[in-house]
Amino acid sequence: MSEVFVGLEGFTLPSGYICKALTIIYPNTEYSQFILEKPKNIMLTEQDERTVRYATSNLHSLQFSDGDVPYDQLDVIFRKLEGYTVYTYSNTAVKFILQFLPTTVVINTQDFGHKLPTSLPESNCFRIHLNYRYCSKAKAIEVKHFCENAQTSSTTPPQCFGQ
Ligand SMILES: [Zn+2]
Repeated sequence: MSEVFVGLEGFTLPSGYICKALTIIYPNTEYSQFILEKPKNIMLTEQDERTVRYATSNLHSLQFSDGDVPYDQLDVIFRKLEGYTVYTYSNTAVKFILQFLPTTVVINTQDFGHKLPTSLPESNCFRIHLNYRYCSKAKAIEVKHFCENAQTSSTTPPQCFGQ
């Protein structure tokens, strides 16, 4: 079973999670990156809008209206990952991915003691972020590193990396 490493960035709104940036790293280190349009027909509450402004100015620097990949393409994008084991970071990300891949094994590296550092190195993702901890590519790279290290370390449960 092959592994892919997925990083998500978006808006965790009171009314639900909206993905804005998605990075997928394949086993051969090739990667895909998508900046998604906002979902069609979305109506933000005032509280949602406050959360959006906060995330844009304090976290990932991505605009809500940013992006060029239609949101409904997520279905097609994720379908290509069927048959892989998907590693990602956070329960929000797992839940989001499982909507598209209900029968795929999606693993939260946090469950294996993974904690994102407070900052991550620049990822050359062609976007400017205040802090690359909030970059989908930097996050996917970090998840991949965690799994590679877990594979060679005896202190982490072996099931973290392909069986
Ligand atoms: Zn980025």
